[in-house]
Amino acid sequence: MLEVSNPFFNAMEQLDKAAGYISLDERIHTILKQPDRFIEVAIPVVMDNGTVKIFTGYRSQYNNSLGVYKGGIRYHWNVTVDEVKALSFWMTIKCATVNIPMGGAKGGVIVNPKELSEGELERLSRGYMKKLWMVLGSDKDVPAPDVYTTPQIMGWMRDEFEKITGKKDPGVITGKSLDQGGSEGRGFSTAQGGAYCTRELAKNMNLVPEETRIAIQGFGNAGSHMAKILSKMGYKIIAVSDSKGGIVMNEGLDIEALTKHKEDTGSVVGFARTTEISNDDILTMDVDILVPAALENVITPDNAKNIKATAIVELANGPTTPDADEILKEKGIIVVPDVLANAGGVTVSYFEWEQNVKGEHWTEEAVLEKLEKIMVDSFHEVWNTKLQYNTDMRTAAFIKAVERVSSTLKETL
Ligand code: NAD
Repeated sequence: MLEVSNPFFNAMEQLDKAAGYISLDERIHTILKQPDRFIEVAIPVVMDNGTVKIFTGYRSQYNNSLGVYKGGIRYHWNVTVDEVKALSFWMTIKCATVNIPMGGAKGGVIVNPKELSEGELERLSRGYMKKLWMVLGSDKDVPAPDVYTTPQIMGWMRDEFEKITGKKDPGVITGKSLDQGGSEGRGFSTAQGGAYCTRELAKNMNLVPEETRIAIQGFGNAGSHMAKILSKMGYKIIAVSDSKGGIVMNEGLDIEALTKHKEDTGSVVGFARTTEISNDDILTMDVDILVPAALENVITPDNAKNIKATAIVELANGPTTPDADEILKEKGIIVVPDVLANAGGVTVSYFEWEQNVKGEHWTEEAVLEKLEKIMVDSFHEVWNTKLQYNTDMRTAAFIKAVERVSSTLKETL
């Protein structure tokens, strides 16, 4: 039997919950309980010392009813079958929540990339493609970077794919650098999408930006851009943190100066005229909006009861455990779920793919205009679904997404 902490078990619980609200056709429900295709491969890599080591790689293609499979490839020592399956299911839900024509997939390799030389990493990445090229392609399944995979790794994979297939296909992978065919705006698109959601949420909650106090856990790609964009919009970012700790300034942080401080010192800690706070305490600060933008499972039943924010915008993937979710709901805290709040990233990946297959390059202005429309429309659809079903925003997003996948899937039966 599956354990409760199993991510795929959690994912299926979320599916069942949404299915219950909309009396989902039992046949569709049955189909959605496993990936369309799950592939495990053994990747032989000649190590620098001449020996051969076998690495295990996965690709889970969950559902392509709405478009080609889409999802990143993760390199991590803790990658498991159920994690990859769950992540591919959540990609299906994420793409459907923001109504982009893409399905859901995810890949992974069990490896600690920090223990490999650059040459070994390249041979592993090319090896992954050698084993999986036949199920990938801009018209089949489009990977992207994820945890510990970089644009360089994506570059090796794309090169290997094009060598094997003998044709140029830049849209086979997204998250590429600009000179490799990447999209304008991709670098900060996750945060930009999250900022559009925050703005719409604040309007619905009658919060004025200048009086809205925000705390952000995590100051990496997602968190630092979120701080910058929200602060430009007029919001007061009063606390941020990174792996070394957190800082607070009640009158609001100067994010540009803070970014410079982080570049110079490697951390937000020690920024002038701030007091320090721990990464646990930042979650329970007295703020209007809390933005987890670092790790999974940081909001748990242990701290959920002490959360004082009136709303949470989940920029990280999976920051809230299912049990904590229930507590937040009981406390009336609004949670803008990850499948909506951080979907700006995959939306601009979709734009990148579209530009590649059409041979176009859009300006940053054009990218942001399209992104804003998708995020704002999706936010209000989920908000209205929440009101319609008298539920939380996460369940509402799943309802909307499952409805969309289901209506297309039904036509194939
Ligand atoms: P990143 O590696 O750039 O940044 C992670 C940040 O978290 C760093 O500032 C790090 O110092 C901090 N951190 C690490 N351990 C911490 C701890 N114990 N407490 C507090 N902070 C800690 O990663 P990222 O790309 O910004 O991703 C962050 C989250 O956003 C992840 O959950 C990721 O899945 C999600 N996400 C990112 C994107 C994207 O486009 N970058 C898209 C969708 C979702």
